[in-house]
Amino acid sequence: VRRYLLALIAALLPGLASAEAYRVQYRAAIHPESGIARVVITLQGTALPSRLVLSIDPARHLRLQSDDVLTPQGNRVEWRPAGQKSSLRYDFVVDAQRRNGGYDSRLTADWAILRSDKLIPPIAVTAPRGLRGAATLALDLPANWSSVAPYARAGDAPGIYAIDDPGRSLPRPKGWLILGHLASRQDVFAGIDVRVAAPAGEGHRLLDTLGFIGWVLPTITQIFPDFPTSLVIVTAGDPMWRGALSGTRSLYLHADRPLISGNRTSTLIHELLHVGKGIRGGDNADWIVEGLAEYYAVEILHRTGAISTRRYQEAITGLERWGQQAPSLFVSRSSGAVTARAATVMARLDEALRAASDGKASLDDVARALATTRGEVTLDTLRALFQHLANDAVDVDAIIRASRPVDLD
Ligand SMILES: [Zn+2]
Repeated sequence: VRRYLLALIAALLPGLASAEAYRVQYRAAIHPESGIARVVITLQGTALPSRLVLSIDPARHLRLQSDDVLTPQGNRVEWRPAGQKSSLRYDFVVDAQRRNGGYDSRLTADWAILRSDKLIPPIAVTAPRGLRGAATLALDLPANWSSVAPYARAGDAPGIYAIDDPGRSLPRPKGWLILGHLASRQDVFAGIDVRVAAPAGEGHRLLDTLGFIGWVLPTITQIFPDFPTSLVIVTAGDPMWRGALSGTRSLYLHADRPLISGNRTSTLIHELLHVGKGIRGGDNADWIVEGLAEYYAVEILHRTGAISTRRYQEAITGLERWGQQAPSLFVSRSSGAVTARAATVMARLDEALRAASDGKASLDDVARALATTRGEVTLDTLRALFQHLANDAVDVDAIIRASRPVDLD
């Protein structure tokens, strides 16, 4: 009863119940002239974490300073806050290029696209049990700039967001940000608030993209009922990286990327699946995460009627042919042929599970179960789920073996 009362009080009076809470403010001032974001992290409260270890990128997080003890150890920096208020300052180099030259993070005179989880690097926290931070992100932007971010606004002031990062003693901003002179469009589909944004002048396909998301999202949320309730899509043209990448409640998509590719998969659906699943591959199990996303990219096009059954089968056959170039699924990073082969394994697993259960179970149940973990998935997890759903009727390993390139025999 006491626990129930405490929970009730916590729910009714967040201000009082958070006596054990401290405030965290992430402040980032954007300086286009120097390509830098000046970051200040301020902790304030009657009790603070005793030790924070930041995993920095020494090429991008520069000039770290604090009035309290700061100890660099290679790519890690230890910060020991003292008293009831402590700040850490550093400069963040916004521009970053992929190996092929495209930018996946960029600050121009007119706009910026970056990942907030790079701006604020991972931080390991040592704190008394139960001590929780309540965090905001405040963006100091050049005149007439605006911001689109995957968080709720904190109050009416522009550029200030409340950071929701459940289960963390130190909530940290994650996901994509777009700042500057922007074009942006918004709608609500299946209860999900979706915003698509681009630098001004590059937003000519925002409504196409938004409409496509509206077409597929209700089907995606049937598979993943816990899909985030808001979603930000950031797009831009060259010289941004000609790819796509999901983040927390957000994703980046190059503006020239087709919504449906020539081989009838969809980069956008693939990345939406990553947002919905929120899982990552454990030991050499990235193929499971990527294979599910790629299989569902084709499957959802088919299920929503965007491609016919004939074209669906052609797409799977095409992936099978491509997958023949992948001698092994068990690699640390799945892409290209490995992902194609992984997608066809998922297609076969789906087929086998439907057959074994008289249509009562499908890969949807597997994907949904994985999504509830929101953690690391391994081949053992996959085997266990099939065992649970189909007893011994589906042999996961045999289906994997059957997908191996013919010329390996
Ligand atoms: Zn992927």
